[in-house]
Amino acid sequence: MNANIKLGRIWGIPIGLSTSWFLIFGLVTLSLATNYFPREYPFLSTVVYVILGVLTSLLFFGSVLGHELGHSFLALRNKIPVRSITLFIFGGVAQIEREPSSPGVELRVAIAGPLVSLMLSGLFGVLWLVSQDFAYIAAPAEYLMRINLMLALFNLIPGFPLDGGRVLRAIVWKSTGDFYRATRVAGMTGQIVAFGFIGFGLWQMFQSQFIDGLWWIFIGWFLQNAAAATVTQTKVQRTLQGVTVAQAMEPNCQEIPALMPLSTIIDQRVLTSGQHCFYITDGENILGMLSLKDITSLPKTKWGFTTAYQAMTPFNRLLRIDSGMDLLSAMQAMENANVSQAPVMEQGRLVGTLTRDRVINYLRTRTQLGM
Ligand SMILES: [Zn+2]
Repeated sequence: MNANIKLGRIWGIPIGLSTSWFLIFGLVTLSLATNYFPREYPFLSTVVYVILGVLTSLLFFGSVLGHELGHSFLALRNKIPVRSITLFIFGGVAQIEREPSSPGVELRVAIAGPLVSLMLSGLFGVLWLVSQDFAYIAAPAEYLMRINLMLALFNLIPGFPLDGGRVLRAIVWKSTGDFYRATRVAGMTGQIVAFGFIGFGLWQMFQSQFIDGLWWIFIGWFLQNAAAATVTQTKVQRTLQGVTVAQAMEPNCQEIPALMPLSTIIDQRVLTSGQHCFYITDGENILGMLSLKDITSLPKTKWGFTTAYQAMTPFNRLLRIDSGMDLLSAMQAMENANVSQAPVMEQGRLVGTLTRDRVINYLRTRTQLGM
């Protein structure tokens, strides 16, 4: 998702707007002010249509945020951290840090969003009923009742990554006891639903409803990508299940004397052996780690008189990984720390290096072997 505008925090969760959101906000406002309100409430003035359009659109996206907060609330209650909530062109997304630990948790987190939408729909429905004589309130309330109901129903379509797909995954997971299989099933229905949307969009375009058709195609395409990515990710997780860091690490890493200049390292080590990372030693102890990134972050002209010691990252500032750790958690830790390599320790002793390239290679080999 592209650049984010930060709005603030709710329950400690950063709330953001993607720049793509402004497009959909504009479209919804425009369609409310020029089409929906004049059609449903024809006796108001243009200024009123515009003001109502903006306010209703804001409340609509507030409702979308409410839906995502519903998911987040249940996630937090089940001790699953929520990284962020972002509103973007296709609605909202709560970035839940990890997969739910049980089908029950998955079900509750998934259903909470549509439940909030249903409740909001009911609330706006009541408001609409009691404000019949007052169009300024009845008009937005009626729209918000409808749109929240649609939001709930749309999200309950049983295709991953829609909430309904998660519900389906929870059910299959519960009945088979197999999380990976459940994800495959939900991902598969997700792709079928996505292609259904694309097909429907194409059909609409042939009915010369060009914009509506295009919209369905985009949503379908977006869902298709998300469903495929989840299935791939699950495959990776399954492949790496039970694999430890020790199995995928680079066991021996080159040591380099602290005073060696970077230019010598480039000429004699990087270009000849193709190695990308080195441990810097004073002859006895490891002082730090030097990566190609550390070298290239300095201007070339300085390589001749900068020593390895000066350019390295000191050992106590490095993310260190235990050799017995499972590979997935290690990769997650590296991802969070934004590093592509980390020293591997065993009982306080350096035993190797884990690099992203190495993990990718390892994964590729296992996939080729059908493991
Ligand atoms: Zn949802």
